[in-house]
Amino acid sequence: MMDLAARLAELDRLGLRRRRRVLDGPQGSRVRIDGRDYLSFASNDYLGLAGHPALAEAARAAAAEVGTGAGAAHLVTGHHALHDRLEHELAGFVGLPAGLLFATGYMANLGVVGALVDRHGAVFADKLNHASLVDAARLSRADHQRYRHNDLDHLEQLLRASTAQDKLIACDAVFSMDGDLAPVPELLALAQRYDAWLYLDDAHGFGVLGAGGRGILEHYGITRPDARLIYLATLGKAAGVSGACVAGSADLIEWLVNKARTYVYTTATPPMLAAAASASLALIAGEPARRRHLARLIARLKAGAAGLPWSLLPSETAIQPLLVGGNREALRLADGLAERAILCPAIRPPTVPEGTARLRISLSAGHDEADVDRLVAALAELA
Ligand SMILES: *Cc1c(COP(=O)(O)O)cnc(C)c1O
Repeated sequence: MMDLAARLAELDRLGLRRRRRVLDGPQGSRVRIDGRDYLSFASNDYLGLAGHPALAEAARAAAAEVGTGAGAAHLVTGHHALHDRLEHELAGFVGLPAGLLFATGYMANLGVVGALVDRHGAVFADKLNHASLVDAARLSRADHQRYRHNDLDHLEQLLRASTAQDKLIACDAVFSMDGDLAPVPELLALAQRYDAWLYLDDAHGFGVLGAGGRGILEHYGITRPDARLIYLATLGKAAGVSGACVAGSADLIEWLVNKARTYVYTTATPPMLAAAASASLALIAGEPARRRHLARLIARLKAGAAGLPWSLLPSETAIQPLLVGGNREALRLADGLAERAILCPAIRPPTVPEGTARLRISLSAGHDEADVDRLVAALAELA
């Protein structure tokens, strides 16, 4: 049996021990955590919708009408009209024929990959993929081939060499710890050339990318649905609620309804959350000013950070990582910010590669210009 106390002490020694803090009140650009108030750059609430009253009201009204629990899995009696409506709305919004709700993005990834490849298949995965895609490939028992980050030549070599029956290319559309984008048009061309699925996990792009907030496909102007394209939007980040929606061809969605184990063998999420997500979608679609404001904040942070001894990684998204290097140094900065009532997490290995510890600055439409200036000034002081 593992000596957990010793293992935890070892994590302490390496500066790798993670601790939770307790949030009180809503998520947002201002948070109360462990009894203290902070300006926060530490959530994925990119549009400032997690605490929006319209979402809470939609959930409240739905709960009053249909109760809290779905009470069964989707294939039994848990598939509610509110779920069904949201699936249609989301698929239409991202421009794909059909959609399927999962309880979380993590479960969606496990379910989709496992339903499309087995031990006779192969998954081609970017090395910087989110942990849930890594786990999805492992659980599927397919041959797990990892290509260097955004390296299309490497990916093509692996595809060319593969004799797998079924091939699936899977990657983050926006990389969660770096903020950069996958080269989707080129990936789609490779998927076509090598007869592979292309699965895009747009957890950080949905709601944020594209003038209409439709995500990575809108960003690249991909309007013609391709049957090999599978799109994942998660609803717990920019959308401010919870859950995820896989979108793709009608046949794909029918197959997932039948074969995605994390869809079939779990209770449907509370219908009131689908109602809240529908309300969120109305704001995402109807209030493009949130995205324009976010874009101004990103530009302002970049300009301000130019004077710091650390560099922002090249990113045009709300995720703006400040590369620090060492674990202790990243922790020192995060602690220094916290002393100044600013929250910004230090991201350390194994979440990111050794030697690339960083502050993951995440901007939100809920911030204003003065918030960004305050962060930059605090970092300058700590430099
Ligand atoms: C957050 C995240 C997920 C998991 O989504 P949840 O709905 O939080 O489970 C999956 N993929 C990526 C890239 C993510 O950033």
